[in-house]
Amino acid sequence: VSKRIHDSVAIFSGGLDSTVLVYEMMQQGLNPHLLSFNYGQRHVKELDYAARTAERLNLRHDIVDLTGITHLISNSALTSPQYVGADLAGNFIEVPEGHYAEDNMQLTVVPNRNMIMLSIAAGVMVNNGYRLIGTGVHSGDHFVYPDCRPRFLNAVNASIVIGNEGFGCIPKQEEGTEVTGVIYAPFHGQSKADIALKGIYLYVPFEDTWSCYKGGDIHCGKCGTCVERLEAIAEAQERVNENYGENLQYDNTSYEDTEYWKGVVADAKAATDEPASSQPRSL
Ligand SMILES: [Zn+2]
Repeated sequence: VSKRIHDSVAIFSGGLDSTVLVYEMMQQGLNPHLLSFNYGQRHVKELDYAARTAERLNLRHDIVDLTGITHLISNSALTSPQYVGADLAGNFIEVPEGHYAEDNMQLTVVPNRNMIMLSIAAGVMVNNGYRLIGTGVHSGDHFVYPDCRPRFLNAVNASIVIGNEGFGCIPKQEEGTEVTGVIYAPFHGQSKADIALKGIYLYVPFEDTWSCYKGGDIHCGKCGTCVERLEAIAEAQERVNENYGENLQYDNTSYEDTEYWKGVVADAKAATDEPASSQPRSL
């Protein structure tokens, strides 16, 4: 079977957000060429999931191997122990469990990750004459990932367009007019539950997406991303069921632990319900 004629590129990890992104782009009539990035994750499981989804949707899929630079940016729980996997003090970094709260997430930041991926995706876009770069970034990412904020996306969009105007499908930019938009981020300003809701409406098979930071046979249900995923899907499911007076389950994913997240989310909620004066606020 020959591949579709592609008109865009999508940054696609095989996780929940970027899989819903791909379905969303196809609903918009786009045929994205999928790009996954191997920056030395502890496991490449999500890349296998990505490959399967790409095959099912008959979309071109390339894995960009960044493991050659991982030792330079590996101060993160996301990157493989074989490429250091330790913090600056030499302590091995464990994958954090519990709610995806700020402290917890700091450990999972790969510095400049979105810039690196968007930059490579921009090269692929220009080279192939595509019009857009799709990314699944959303508001839930904002507070520790500065490279998910609108200000960053606007700035990098401008850099890509100004740096490539007149090449591929990027038109010459008129002085003083607004720069062409090439970054497509439909989940911007939305929560992860909003993305899960979109996924339910688009019949995204959640069990064919991988979120867990631990590389087990099935999702652990306890790490930061598992908790975040379970919480988001549960909220979306509740909204759909309320809407239609149903009691349906939309997630066929297997989890080692299906209860742990509930306690973590309840604790996190209780903590935020405390009086504002007791909450140190970081910007
Ligand atoms: Zn997990």
